[in-house]
Amino acid sequence: MAIIETQPGRAVLRAAIAGNPNSGKTSLFNALTGANLKVGNYPGVTVERREGRVRCNGGDMTVVDLPGTYSLTAHSADEVVARTVLIHERPDVVVDVVDASNLERNLYLVTQLMEMELPLVIALNMIDVARRRGLIIDAEKMSAILGVPVTETIGNRGRGITDLVNVCRGVARQPERVTVRRVTYGHGVDEEVDALTAVVAGDPGLAARYPPRWVAIKLIEKDEEIVAAVRRHARNAGAIERSATESINAIERHFDELAEEVVAEARYGFASGVIRECVTHQDLSRRRMTDRIDAVVCHRLLGPLILASVVYALFLAVFKIADEWRWVFGRSPTGVVDAIFAWLATASMGIERTSPMVHSLWTDGIIGGVGGIMSFVPLIVVMFAFICVLEDTGYMARVAFVLDRALKVFGLQGKSIIAMVVSGGLGGGGCAVPGVMATRVLADREDRLVTMLVAPLMNCGAKLPVYLMLVAAFFPRAQARVMFLLWILSWALALCSAWIIRRFVVRGEPTPFVMELPTYHVPTLRGVWRHTWNRTWMFVKKAGTLILATSVLLWAAMYFPQLDATAHDARIAALQTGSDGAGSPTTEGQAATRTVDTSDAERDLTRKRRAAQLRHSLAGRAGSALEGASRWAGFDWRDNIALIGGFAAKEVVVGTLGVAYALGDVDPGESESLPDRLAADAAWSPLKAFAMMVFVMIYAPCITVQIMTWRESGHWKWPLFSVGYTVGLAFVLAVAIYQIGMAAGWGA
Ligand code: GDP
Repeated sequence: MAIIETQPGRAVLRAAIAGNPNSGKTSLFNALTGANLKVGNYPGVTVERREGRVRCNGGDMTVVDLPGTYSLTAHSADEVVARTVLIHERPDVVVDVVDASNLERNLYLVTQLMEMELPLVIALNMIDVARRRGLIIDAEKMSAILGVPVTETIGNRGRGITDLVNVCRGVARQPERVTVRRVTYGHGVDEEVDALTAVVAGDPGLAARYPPRWVAIKLIEKDEEIVAAVRRHARNAGAIERSATESINAIERHFDELAEEVVAEARYGFASGVIRECVTHQDLSRRRMTDRIDAVVCHRLLGPLILASVVYALFLAVFKIADEWRWVFGRSPTGVVDAIFAWLATASMGIERTSPMVHSLWTDGIIGGVGGIMSFVPLIVVMFAFICVLEDTGYMARVAFVLDRALKVFGLQGKSIIAMVVSGGLGGGGCAVPGVMATRVLADREDRLVTMLVAPLMNCGAKLPVYLMLVAAFFPRAQARVMFLLWILSWALALCSAWIIRRFVVRGEPTPFVMELPTYHVPTLRGVWRHTWNRTWMFVKKAGTLILATSVLLWAAMYFPQLDATAHDARIAALQTGSDGAGSPTTEGQAATRTVDTSDAERDLTRKRRAAQLRHSLAGRAGSALEGASRWAGFDWRDNIALIGGFAAKEVVVGTLGVAYALGDVDPGESESLPDRLAADAAWSPLKAFAMMVFVMIYAPCITVQIMTWRESGHWKWPLFSVGYTVGLAFVLAVAIYQIGMAAGWGA
């Protein structure tokens, strides 16, 4: 819109633009005035004053852009400036720019402008945004309710400007046509306002300067500027102040709240009443449905119960569908993957004779590594499909809502629960690999990191065989109780660790409790599939190569250096005679079995060779080297090798223990299982078994989890920290349990 100089003799109308910050005031001001504007400061303050001119048919208008404010109290320089212009310059028309997509807050300012009894026009701006959000605003009805003209605008695109200018001109020319409705403050306040208004109106010094009702309201709000103005201008300031104090006391006695708060609440009440009358939600039926569901789902008592069932169902579904139910050619999905890799391993048996090393690398290193990655895929697919359904339906936001307060104490977030449960938080197995990936539902980086670092403390499915084996061997009559104790311990350690890590390592305020509860939706199959596929592919791509490389490295540590064949048997003999406790004298019967059953003997020899090789390997040497420290927790070199193997995956622990303990064994019979063998071993006791279980629970998340932690956190220092922290904690606790137990005499 072009700007021209005012023609002499023509009255220039004056308009002021008020509105909340970000309501689009500047956009509208620019659209009205073009580029031709005058920028200065308001006297005495550094608040910018911008003025421009609008040319329109039949008369020009100057427009002053007031500072953006939410309110017109005297709390900030902006508010005082805006108020002063409105009171003292008395513009012919005041345009209040209202963000239609954020009506409640914007209407608060509207009520205050209405109180000032100004010739008001409302520019319902951002109407496009409101429409996109499904809000239908009845501008005519709003206009009727408020007694103020309302026109719709889209400021950034200059839409609705001509209408706005016309309406403004109409109001400025004939202000009597606008009858701004009275804002009501409800029973108990209105009476006081009316009484005080009468007192103010009776004072000519004040009434000439200010709208009496506005002064009365401001006095009730204890507005210091107005109190000062009363003292300055009123003929009978003392009487007015006394009346004001009486009114304030009456209101505060009535509501047991500060008078200014009562007034502010009443304005919000008025605003929400206007919204109820004039705004409909396009998806009202859905909104109503959502509210009804939320009344149950976010209920104080029912909410947590429903959450527990949903999370439990998710957990069951993931592990049943992916890992238990045999619904793919008579196998479970992970079973299919395992079978494929087992087949690959057997198919390559031929290489063993010609090149045992290549065979071992192929079966233990490569197939083991790739197979390991691929067997996670069914779990990840099913888990993400379910998480995606939870997110798309809108329930995930409620999970956060229900649990946030409880978990925030520990520096976690409501949604962290998903990762913890998937990692094994329910005690019946689970896996921290999808658990770490499940932290993606958390928006905040710090929350994600802390959750990622503590979720592996849960008892995942790979730790269960270790527990089950040791519990069967040492706590046959207290299996359930010991397992329960381990479950409680894992949660206690995870929550305490979260608190510690949040306090000392990953600082930063937890995200504040601002939560939008979206409407419930039925998720689309396509959406769920796309999400699930993307995340699964990311896992294979990101983790695949690294996991393969590390599993080959670990294989090498257990394979090299090699013992040669004669050294093997010499070593076995030496170790057998030297092994303490385990080597009881050979009875005649056992000797007979040995000679009779040559295949048993052969198998026994193979086992012992493997054990000897293991001890000779790098991992075995490391195990021996660590004995000095590990003895404090009761672990010898054989236990250490098994634990080193557990760095690759916890399920390796049982297998490696089996290999390592084959060495000192004098009974060649296959009948004796590992639990029986350990139970019979003098070096083991229930105390040591418990220390071992606690150690296995805590120490070093498996290599796949570490790689996922690296990938998901974006830095290798986090898996490193995780290993350092968990190994340290595991060692300290295992030593404490073992040493205290020994001192208490439980070590027998
Ligand atoms: P002010 O802080 O009140 O001066 O607001 P601005 O005029 O700076 O506007 C804030 C933002 O909202 C800017 O990015 C504008 O482009 C944008 N905006 C202003 N009016 C509208 C509108 O009617 N619709 C939409 N979609 N955006 C708008």
